[in-house]
Amino acid sequence: MTLVDTREPDPKSFISGATGDWEIVIGMEVHAQVTSEAKLFSGASTDFGAEANAHVSLVDAAMPGMLPVINEECVRQAIRTGLGLKAQINKRSIFDRKNYFYPDLPQGYQISQFKDPIVGEGIVTVSVGPDKSGEFRDIEVGVERLHLEQDAGKSMHDQHPTMSFVDLNRSGVALMEIVSKPDMRSAEEAKAYLTKLRTILRYLGTCDGNMDEGSMRADVNVSVRRPGGPFGTRCEIKNVNSIRFVGQAIESEARRQIALIEDGGVVDQETRLFDPVKGETRAMRTKEDAHDYRYFPDPDLLPLEFDQAYIDALLAELPELPDDKKARFVSESGLSTYDASILVSDKAIADFFEKVAKGRDAKQAANWVINDLLGALNKAGKDIDETPVSADQLGAILDLIREGTISGKIAKDLFEIVWNEGGDPKEIVESRGMKQVTDTGAIEKAVDEVIAANPEKVEQAKAKPSLAGWFVGQVMKATGGKANPQAVNALVKEKLGVE
Ligand code: ADP
Ligand code: MG
Repeated sequence: MTLVDTREPDPKSFISGATGDWEIVIGMEVHAQVTSEAKLFSGASTDFGAEANAHVSLVDAAMPGMLPVINEECVRQAIRTGLGLKAQINKRSIFDRKNYFYPDLPQGYQISQFKDPIVGEGIVTVSVGPDKSGEFRDIEVGVERLHLEQDAGKSMHDQHPTMSFVDLNRSGVALMEIVSKPDMRSAEEAKAYLTKLRTILRYLGTCDGNMDEGSMRADVNVSVRRPGGPFGTRCEIKNVNSIRFVGQAIESEARRQIALIEDGGVVDQETRLFDPVKGETRAMRTKEDAHDYRYFPDPDLLPLEFDQAYIDALLAELPELPDDKKARFVSESGLSTYDASILVSDKAIADFFEKVAKGRDAKQAANWVINDLLGALNKAGKDIDETPVSADQLGAILDLIREGTISGKIAKDLFEIVWNEGGDPKEIVESRGMKQVTDTGAIEKAVDEVIAANPEKVEQAKAKPSLAGWFVGQVMKATGGKANPQAVNALVKEKLGVE
């Protein structure tokens, strides 16, 4: 890869060493498991969590004479991903053999793509933040390429005192390797990039993005340099399996490199591992070069070719992606960019919001989804898929507010009841007498009582009309929050004779 610097140095992301400021440079290689029923070159299942070696075909076990047959679904998914990354789709690509020996690699080589990948350059717009003043800033991270390759199996060293076992369930599963340009300048940016990439893949349905199941792993390349100076030598931290760890690995690796250079040493290009317990990286092996792998086109596979019509058809069916959805929420529903960003961060949340907002006040719906629903889910450690309050139920609560049947305050109580006990919000309001009192007679009585009980306050309020709010509060309290606030407000002012 020819390295091009696309970023202006930003002092906010510098880290200071003993001898001055440093800038971190990060590029990532993300392995994303393709969502597909079968493996890249065999019909074996890709289901997660099966018994060891339950999903291994003769091809995956590399039995002599077996021939790989490309799974069209994986090709389709790779192209769709490329389109989602606004990338160049290559109508002709080549599968190569990447040769190395490893016990969990029965073929003795991995089928991958080297010189001619299926997808070329693309771009991911990443929103970074919020910073201390609540601001987000957008950065663009270049995608160098996306290629298809096989996953390897897994060695298991803890099953027997003297032997190691191998599980080939993953062997041959399709991966997309998505290689970024070295366009990130802080751990925060790298985490935001990975989060955004995962969101895009999930919207597309091309990878489930479950990092704890190994469906997505990142190799994180880190180097340091003087701000704006030439690129430094990088180290590659292999197989980081959580977004939090990506951040920690970058921070500690950058500090290690800075200390090393400031101490008069040089960074060796090497592969390192992140130890989450110690919070630091350690050397694994010095970096192998491409020629060590003796790449050559796999003679068992023809070049992969398709035409523009095939690409166009996939493009036409692509779902709305987060950036477009965000823009639409801002322009169509008048949401703030901040609120729209939160809602589109997860497709399930965006879908939930749209269901609630349909035919209702979108801003109010957004407030309830973000503050009340997501707040409660967060507190309960639940995912949107596990929400006890459905979009229909939340919608019904909003309708009750709009009709004036309940006040906003009672609506919060109602939300809590629905959250804990379920049920139809309308019926709950009915059966538990939560209806707002709009009957002016009843409200008037309450207002009169409060006024009669507080003659001093009445005098004060007459001199200073803003104190009328205190009476409104007292009446609301006396009616258990059920009085219609507008009606109370009007009556209080009338009785006090203030404007
Ligand atoms: P290779 O194929 O040998 O692993 P590449 O040149 O394709 O190397 O780069 C792999 C990854 O390393 C890319 O994500 C790229 O952005 C990143 N990278 C390359 N040079 C640097 C550097 N100096 N600092 C940080 N990341 C880098
Ligand atoms: Mg690499």
